[in-house]
Amino acid sequence: MVLSLFAIYIIQDINYVEHKEYFKEYFKKRYEDNKDKIKIQSLQKLTCNCGKTFGIYKKTRHEKSQYHKDYLKQQDQEYSC
Ligand SMILES: [Zn+2]
Repeated sequence: MVLSLFAIYIIQDINYVEHKEYFKEYFKKRYEDNKDKIKIQSLQKLTCNCGKTFGIYKKTRHEKSQYHKDYLKQQDQEYSC
């Protein structure tokens, strides 16, 4: 119910400023409701093929890292021989 109301406001893009406080509360509440879930997810670790371990939310960042790129480059060289 609350979510569909929110969607309507975004689509129409009206009254947003007027309801800013409402949205603020809405997101705050949603965060509070999901806090434990977010915490658990953020504690999950992934181990990449390159050997590095990192938090689930840092996957994209890791894939852009020099360490990972070097690993990929090394893999390419091995397979191209
Ligand atoms: Zn990696």
